[in-house]
Amino acid sequence: MTSTFEWLIGAFPDKETKEFQVKWSTAEIQVAAFEGGELQFNGQLEGTMRVFRNHEEAHMRVKAAVEALQLCVRCLELAPLQLEIAFDILYRPSRFKPNYWEDESDIGLGYYDNGMINMQDDLRRHLQLETSLWPVCQESCKGLCPECGVNRNETLCGCGNSAQPSKTAIGAQLEQLFNR
Ligand SMILES: [Zn+2]
Ligand SMILES: [Zn+2]
Repeated sequence: MTSTFEWLIGAFPDKETKEFQVKWSTAEIQVAAFEGGELQFNGQLEGTMRVFRNHEEAHMRVKAAVEALQLCVRCLELAPLQLEIAFDILYRPSRFKPNYWEDESDIGLGYYDNGMINMQDDLRRHLQLETSLWPVCQESCKGLCPECGVNRNETLCGCGNSAQPSKTAIGAQLEQLFNR
């Protein structure tokens, strides 16, 4: 079991595949929540990392998971959510970095300097891709009552029996957020 984000290319046996059990600290991977949202991790990012080294190149295959807590957009409660990442990435020395490489948009390629591969940014990027833009605690979440604001998963408020058109659920949620 290893928890390091940094790997010396020379530490991998050349022309061989090696598998590591990994347990990365989520405190060190700052994943941003989407605007108005909230994201917390429950525990560490755990999984496996396979490495095939070919001279100066290292091909990594990462599979890992962590439980996250995200704010449900309907009821505004923190909801547990299993985040799983699985990706391949090829690390090469930075002297091979092409000139157009600016925004690191090619997530299948990474570059390293001074013989040291740092995976932190790539792990963050992949975790970020797995976070939901529209997280819900459960598909059947009834959300907040647009009229009285109670959590309808917990309380039957009896609103909505009137013939008046009610606000949309999203409108009610926005109102809730702004009135906090
Ligand atoms: Zn909910
Ligand atoms: Zn109500």
